Formats: sequence, structure tokens, C-alpha cells
Amino acid sequence: MANETIILSLFKEKIRGLTSKNMEIIFTDGSVSENFTVSAFVHLNSNSIKSFYTDKKLSSLTAELTVLEKAIDFGTSKKFSKIAILTDSLGAIQTIKNANSKNCISQCILKKVIKNPTLLSIEFHHIPSHSNIWENDLADSAAKNSGINGSFAPVRWTLKDAINHMFAQIKQDWEREYSLFSLERNKGYSLLSPNTTSKPWFKNKEDLFNRIETKTLNRILSGHAFDKYTLSKRKVYDNALCDSCNVNEDISHILINCSKYTPTRQNYPTLLKYNDIYRLLGNEPIENWTLITGFIRAAHINIYYNTLHTAHLIHYSTIHAYTNSQNCYELLFCRWQCR
Ligand SMILES: [Zn+2]
Repeated sequence: MANETIILSLFKEKIRGLTSKNMEIIFTDGSVSENFTVSAFVHLNSNSIKSFYTDKKLSSLTAELTVLEKAIDFGTSKKFSKIAILTDSLGAIQTIKNANSKNCISQCILKKVIKNPTLLSIEFHHIPSHSNIWENDLADSAAKNSGINGSFAPVRWTLKDAINHMFAQIKQDWEREYSLFSLERNKGYSLLSPNTTSKPWFKNKEDLFNRIETKTLNRILSGHAFDKYTLSKRKVYDNALCDSCNVNEDISHILINCSKYTPTRQNYPTLLKYNDIYRLLGNEPIENWTLITGFIRAAHINIYYNTLHTAHLIHYSTIHAYTNSQNCYELLFCRWQCR
């Protein structure tokens, strides 16, 4: 409370100082929500409140700079010779003050200020937000209601906003693609992770799995192990049958059922509890996946290195590139990008 009293006292002193210099005081505020960027300015002397919205999520800096520019346009239209803009965005003020800033809105503001023949003086002042400064609250409230009575403001793309927007769009497309992709093909990885994740499953698991083991598990999870069933679907092998068991030699068969590895498998009882490797991956904690890599190593199973004919490798180069990635998330993303 004491701080708030001090802030209000300093604020009133600031207002008195600006008024004594005949500055036209304009309060601005901008904010960002899930799908919108909103802003507003308030000029009490003319009883003007103007609000704006953009149907894109931009940065809060862009929201603040955009409304600073709108406030200056307003002041210019009123032929104000002295303008004081009060904002709670220290970042916006610092950007404008930085002569080397590459921000296109900031550059535009500076050009407008310099080229304005009637504008003799302009000042930017920082006022703290949420300090019961009602003029600031008024701008904040007007910004939040801009969807109801505000003006649509076309997007002013800064480089940072454009990049963020593209990444958000790509991520959104990827999540949609991943969801369909998981249903159709990658039952392994989708069991583990039904939605896209920001971190791969092996993050901070270096003490459990070395690089080759991580890649091996990624091949299994992504359905790209070098088993005969997978390779025959790509026309690398003529048939998908296990040489010993005469059934499809997919990765589950190799790890769970194949008679060639029965003696070794007896040392890995958890493997015997499942009839599908993906159920094991879905049910067992990642720490227990070491039994898979341990079994693969003990049984001398090779599902990571390929020993295919060169012609097959060329034919198969795309999937080879995918599966060389350690990161299954990247792997699927790569596949999505290469459609
Ligand atoms: Zn077999």
C-alpha cells in the first residue's frame, strides 16, 4: 500500500509537470490474448478513447508500439505541437530510444516524428501497470473491449512476429498431421505420446541409453526397424516371413516371439509378459526399456544397422535419413516436411 501511495504521488507530480509544459497527454496500453492483439489509447482533453484489435497473436511489444504509433497519428491529426505518451511498456520506450533498433514499427514511429512539421516536442514516459492509475486502467479496459467497439488494425509484421507466427502455424499443422499420422501408422510412438511433445522421450536419459540404443529404440517407436516385414513393405525384401518361424518377421515377433532368441529371452522375463512390443513400451516406464536394449545386445539382434544392397539404400535413402535421427519427434517432423 505504501508503494502504491508513493507511485500515485509520483504519477500526479509527473502529470502536473507535463501539464505545466502544455503537453497533450495520451495514455496507451496493449496486450495479447490467445488469438488477438489488442490496444487502446486515451486522450482525456478531447475525451477520446480509441481501441484496436488484430486477429493475430503478435508480441506484446508489437501491441504496445502499434498503439504508440496510433497515438502519434491521432496527435498529428489534431495538430498537437507537444505530446506526452504515457505507457506501461518499458520495452516499447527502450525500443524507440534505440537508434539501432531494426523494429519496423519503431522505425516508422521515428520517421513520423521527424517528418511531422507541427510536432515540436514528444516525450515517452513509463508508468507502472496495476498501480491504480485510473487513466491507465481506462486504456487497459478499452483495449480489452476492442473486439466489441474497436477498429480492426491490419497486422504490421515485424521480423520476430513473422517468425513466431510461422512457427506457431507450422506447429499447429504438425499437431494436426501428427494426430492423423499417429492413428494411421505410428502406433508405437503414439501409444507413448498421443500428442506432440516439446521434449523427446530420451531427454536426460543419457545415463540409461547410449546413442546407438536411443536410435534403436527410435526405430522401434517410429515403426522403422530393419525387420523383414517393414523392409518387404518397401520392396526391399520379397517376403516378410521369419526364416525360422514362417510368420511375419516384424519387430514384435523378433523381440517377443521369435524362436531364434528363446534361450536369451528367458533372462528377460518382462518380455514374456507381453505379446506386442508396443504394449510393453506403453506400459513399462522408460527406465525399464533397458531390458529391450539389453536383450537386443545379448541376442546380437541388428535392427539399427542396415546391410542392404547399395541399390536398395539409394531406393531407400529417404527412410534411412529419417531413421538416422536420434529424435523421434524430429524424425516424424522431418517426414511431415518432406511430404
Ligand atoms: Zn522367428
